[in-house]
Amino acid sequence: MSLTSHPGSEMDAFQERLARVRARIARAERAHGRPPGSVRLLAVSKTQPTPVLRVAWETGLRAFAESYYQEAVQKIEALAGLGIEWHFIGPIQSNKTRGIAQRFAWVHSVDREKIARRLSEHRPPSMPPLQVCLQVNIDREPTKSGCPPEAVETLARYIAQLPRLRLRGLMTIPAATQDPERQRAAFARVRRLQEHLNAQGLALDTLSMGMSRDLEAAIAEGATVVRIGTALFGPRPPRPRTR
Ligand SMILES: *Cc1c(COP(=O)(O)O)cnc(C)c1O
Repeated sequence: MSLTSHPGSEMDAFQERLARVRARIARAERAHGRPPGSVRLLAVSKTQPTPVLRVAWETGLRAFAESYYQEAVQKIEALAGLGIEWHFIGPIQSNKTRGIAQRFAWVHSVDREKIARRLSEHRPPSMPPLQVCLQVNIDREPTKSGCPPEAVETLARYIAQLPRLRLRGLMTIPAATQDPERQRAAFARVRRLQEHLNAQGLALDTLSMGMSRDLEAAIAEGATVVRIGTALFGPRPPRPRTR
């Protein structure tokens, strides 16, 4: 039997990548004076098939993030009962707000009033409030989702008064760059935006920023949640056409 067909090998490979990601997080926490364990790892499992999520779950991961609603529903149903905390991080169409409000613990990608209002209306009374991050388009990229920086305060105040949402903080996906200085500059602007909101009386405790390529820069600027896909799971399979 070849090594690669050994049943444990997929688990070993995952565990190795997980250990590398955890080491990167721990090193960045130390380097930037952040308390050990203060940065939470969110596993971005979009386009990964259910058996791969099960392997990740067996290593102890319990928080998974998905970007495509239909695909997410299939996995949520297949893995029901495992105590997974599901996070939605993709663009939100208004006809998906009911399903998202019923199935997810967190939504990181709220970027307009209509979506926020609908998520609050659809959050079942039997569940705890939906934990929400406001997505900021920090580099004002025309093709990207997210609220423009100058509109963040108004939207944050709107979300904060909705009864079934709990506004926890800001999320961002900065313009792609390999330059660590530029990565940090974008994250620093989001951190300052959050500090400004807190000075206005909003009690935000979450900065959802940092992905496989820039988690160090994000942690340097105060990220409390990093959203990691490829560094954990390897290259993403193409997105299945389910719609
Ligand atoms: C895909 C995705 C990630 C993960 O990106 P990687 O580069 O694979 O780590 C993080 N956040 C969002 C919003 C994503 O869509």
